[in-house]
Amino acid sequence: MPAAFPPPVDSQKEFVKRGLDAEDELIEVGVAIVGGGTAGLACANRLLQLLADDPETMERLGEVPVAVIEKAKTCGGHSLSGAVMRPGPLEELFPEMTREQWREEGFAFGEVKKEAVYLTPTSKMALRVPTPPPFKNHGNEVVSVSALARYQQRQAEEAGAYILTETSATQLIVDTPSGAQGSRVAGVRSGDKGRGKEGEPLGNFEPGTDIKAQATVLAEGCWGHITGAAIKEFDLADGREPQVWELGVKEVWKVKQPLDRLIHTMGPWPLKISPKYGQIGGTWIYPMKNEKGEDLVSIGFVVELEYADATTSAHDLLQTFKTHPLVRKILEGGERIAWGAKALPGGGYWSMPKLSMPGAVLVGDSGGMVDTMALKGVHHCIKSGMLAAETIYAALKRGESSFEAYEEAIEESSVGKEMWEVRNARQPLQKGLLIGGPLSGIQQITKGKLPGRAHWHRNDAKPMFIGKTKDSYPKPDGKYTFDKLSSVFITGNATRDDAPNHIRVQKHVPRELAETWKWMCPAGVYEIPEDGEGGDESGEVDVIVNYTNCVQCGAITAKGGRLTVPEGGDGPLYQIL
Ligand SMILES: Cc1cc2nc3c(=O)[nH]c(=O)nc-3n(C[C@H](O)[C@H](O)[C@H](O)COP(=O)(O)OP(=O)(O)OC[C@H]3O[C@@H](n4cnc5c(N)ncnc54)[C@H](O)[C@@H]3O)c2cc1C
Ligand code: SF4
Repeated sequence: MPAAFPPPVDSQKEFVKRGLDAEDELIEVGVAIVGGGTAGLACANRLLQLLADDPETMERLGEVPVAVIEKAKTCGGHSLSGAVMRPGPLEELFPEMTREQWREEGFAFGEVKKEAVYLTPTSKMALRVPTPPPFKNHGNEVVSVSALARYQQRQAEEAGAYILTETSATQLIVDTPSGAQGSRVAGVRSGDKGRGKEGEPLGNFEPGTDIKAQATVLAEGCWGHITGAAIKEFDLADGREPQVWELGVKEVWKVKQPLDRLIHTMGPWPLKISPKYGQIGGTWIYPMKNEKGEDLVSIGFVVELEYADATTSAHDLLQTFKTHPLVRKILEGGERIAWGAKALPGGGYWSMPKLSMPGAVLVGDSGGMVDTMALKGVHHCIKSGMLAAETIYAALKRGESSFEAYEEAIEESSVGKEMWEVRNARQPLQKGLLIGGPLSGIQQITKGKLPGRAHWHRNDAKPMFIGKTKDSYPKPDGKYTFDKLSSVFITGNATRDDAPNHIRVQKHVPRELAETWKWMCPAGVYEIPEDGEGGDESGEVDVIVNYTNCVQCGAITAKGGRLTVPEGGDGPLYQIL
């Protein structure tokens, strides 16, 4: 099981910095927001709206009242979603904008008017079923989160935010020694740039800097490097269920015919239905358009990382799914124009950590705010970002430094209410689709009225075996089905060949674990030497880590490894995912 081979990492020791550098060596900002995705930028925009009417508080926040620290080349460059969004929170954030204007800005593609849900019992059959409650999307909007983040970035910059792109936050700064009473987040440290493979400074080396802040917002998405350290440092997950994860792989296609509806499939094909395989997943196909008005579709496959067959690969499952006649009909004659992969937190309400700590709060996926029954997180990201902004603003205006009120604001908002209703709906599926499906249905229909707390077990505590899922993957033809490396190529991945390794895994592990990483990683980062070199009698093998291919999806953290933040600017540059 992956948990028996933990990654060589001590997050508190390595990723928490105790004390700030001298005043003349640091950058001072009012509010530091780590992550320029949907959640972080909603927080920045809401804060600046509030500060615009309050010059006194604005002045108290100093020369840089709001700073957003984003590791991608541009905001949204590392954001990926399905993405059908419940519109309420975005309408609330920008009340003067109409949905028609969202579409003119290029991040929204139309209101959902028609939808269809299918069971796919085999590779040829598709049975249309009545739309289950979580898949009801009438009135929602199809968007691109990477384009939405670029729009939010422009708005925030115009309103006065300082956006540091290509900058990784590598350490959480707390202002007192380890374990001392009253310790408080004092900001974050940005990462060094220009280090070589062994960590040695190269000619263009630039050291990182302490960014001191009156309030820090962790909006790192999934999986959060600093968030993970903060959760440990402040015991934020005490008494909660463990977090569990899902991995989605997505493609965008230019198609010949417009798609007139949203499509979801619930399997079981191409997953194995036997509980031994532990595979739960589903797919989506959504209509989109590009800036020229041409027809596109977003297509994706999401699989829970709870599976036991080491040969489960979300990337290859998506390629397999595309061979189904239902899908072929939609994509035939079209062209793939984008690909990406990203994990999402799947534990829901019971797995959400405490959302505030002295000096800082968690928003969006960093706080685990995704309803995976409905595959909806974007609107929670926006709402939580806004609530964080309102809490921080109110506290700083009063000259106070506690942001604990944020916890209650979330609980009482649409985020808390919606997450509560489905809090026990997903867990039964860990028993398999046949047993878990009906139990999950009861939870959905009763909208959380049944009492109790359903438990999760950790994804990395699942014993792995080498099964047969891989036998059904199609051989890539480079036109309709693709291998992992050509997929990574079209992400615009810009990681330097001589960058230091940011993936922490044990390098000599049982074959079952090595195979798990090899198949799971959508970017083909892990390799096992084919000639058995590095293998030993105990069945352990060497693992080669081609970390420069990594698209920072975060899945490795669920199955025994750890994604840490690479140098700012590295990784993919998603434009329309
Ligand atoms: C496959 C998939 C399908 C989905 N489908 C839907 C859907 O249809 N509808 C829906 O509502 N939701 C959907 N979701 C969920 C939704 O996409 C997420 O909830 C949402 O996009 C998360 O936004 P975020 O701002 O929290 O995180 P992100 O968008 O991930 O943003 C976090 C940002 O922080 C940056 N960052 C992270 N760490 C650091 C650091 N240390 N230093 C600097 N920068 C950092 C990252 O580069 C990134 O830009 C889906 C998710 C996935 C993965
Ligand atoms: S190596 Fe990178 S791309 Fe591969 S699973 Fe890990 S985080 Fe995802």
